[in-house]
Amino acid sequence: MKNDWKPRTKLVHGGTRRSQWGEVSEAIFLTQGFVYDSAEQAEARFLQSGPDEFIYARYGNPTVAMFEERIAALEEAEDAFATASGMAAVNGALMAMLRAGDHVVAARALFGSCLYVLEEILPRFGVEVTFVDGTDLDAWRAAMRAETRVCFFESISNPTLEVIDIAAVSEIAHAAGATVIVDNVFATPVYSRALEQGADVVVYSATKHIDGQGRTLGGVILGSEAFIRKTVEPYMKHTGGAMSPFTAWVMLKGLETIDLRVRAQTATAHALAEALQGHPALARVIYPGLANHAQHALTQAQMGAGGTVLSVDLKGGQAAAFRFLNALHVFVISNNLGDAKSIVTHPATTTHQRLPEAQKTQLGITPGLVRVSCGLEDQDDLLADMKQALDAV
Ligand SMILES: *Cc1c(COP(=O)(O)O)cnc(C)c1O
Repeated sequence: MKNDWKPRTKLVHGGTRRSQWGEVSEAIFLTQGFVYDSAEQAEARFLQSGPDEFIYARYGNPTVAMFEERIAALEEAEDAFATASGMAAVNGALMAMLRAGDHVVAARALFGSCLYVLEEILPRFGVEVTFVDGTDLDAWRAAMRAETRVCFFESISNPTLEVIDIAAVSEIAHAAGATVIVDNVFATPVYSRALEQGADVVVYSATKHIDGQGRTLGGVILGSEAFIRKTVEPYMKHTGGAMSPFTAWVMLKGLETIDLRVRAQTATAHALAEALQGHPALARVIYPGLANHAQHALTQAQMGAGGTVLSVDLKGGQAAAFRFLNALHVFVISNNLGDAKSIVTHPATTTHQRLPEAQKTQLGITPGLVRVSCGLEDQDDLLADMKQALDAV
C-alpha cells in the first residue's frame, strides 16, 4: 500500500489482499482456523507468526487483518486491533495496560457503558479513577498523580457534545508520563487527526459511522505497533474480544463509503442546527459546528467540522421531548448514531437512564434533551419533519 495515498484512496484500497482467485471485492474468510503443511510449520507458527500467517480467528483472520490495515492507513496509525464491539475496544485498551495501584483520569461526560467500566469495573481491580470536567485543563492538571497511567476521554462527549482539546490534554498527560486514550466515535475517522494531535491510542465503536448502516457491532483500537502487538493483542486474543470475519467484511465495505456518508451527514446536521436555532419550543440547540458553541474555535481547529450529531433541549422537559419524538415521521426513535437512517434518542430515559438524577444534572442531561443523529435522507425532508414535530409540541 502506498503511504502517500489520499484518505479516500486509502479507504477504498487500503489493506486489500487478494487470494489466488483475484477477486475484486474483499473475500470473507469465514473460518475459525487454518491448516498447516506440516507439524514443523505448526510449531514454527505458534512460536512466531508472520503478517500473512494465521493460527486461530480469535488471534487474527485475513478479512479482519484487511480491515485493521485499512483503518490504520486512514488514521496513519502504526497498527490496529479489531474488536467485537466498541465496548470491547474501550475495555480492551484500558484493561490491557492497567494494573492494581494505577490511577486513571477521565472526563466526566462519557457514553454510559464507558462510565460503567471506569466507575464500576476498574475500581474492583484496584485501579482508582478521578473524573474531571474534560473541558477544564486546570482540572486535568490538578488530577494528575505520580501513579497516573491513563487519561481517557471522548473527544466529543455524548450526548451534550462538549469538545475536548486533544493536544492540550495530551501535553498535560505526557508531562506526567500517562498514556492518552481517546474514544473518537463522535469525531468520526473522517475528521479525526487525534494521533497527530497527541493521542497515543484511539478507539472507535465501528458500529457507528464505520458500518454506518446499522448492521453489525464492531470496534477497533489504534496505536503504536508496540502497544497493539505487545499490550493489546495478548489481552484481546486470550480474553475473546476479537471481531468476526463477517463483521470485518461489513466494516471494510463501510470504510469504502464512509467519507462520502459522513460529509453528507455532517452537512445535514449543520443545516438542521442552523435552521432550528431560536425555535420557540427549544431552550438550546447544541452543535459543535455552530458559532455559538462553547468550543467552536477548538472544533474548527481540531476537526474542521461539527460532525453528524446535534442535540436539542426542549423547553417543556420530558413531556415535550416525548411529544416531539412521537410526532416525528422520518426520524426513527432508537439509540444508534452515525447511521444512514436519522435517529432520535432521549438520553435521560434510555442511554443514561441508569445515572442518578444529580449526575444527569451535572452532565447537562436534562429531561428535555434529545440527541439527533443525522442520516442520509434528503435534508429538506428531515427539516420539514423536525419543524412539524416541534410545532406539534
Ligand atoms: C456506541 C459507543 C460506544 C460503544 O460501542 P458499541 O459498539 O456499542 O459497543 C463507546 N463509546 C461511544 C462514544 C459510543 O458512542
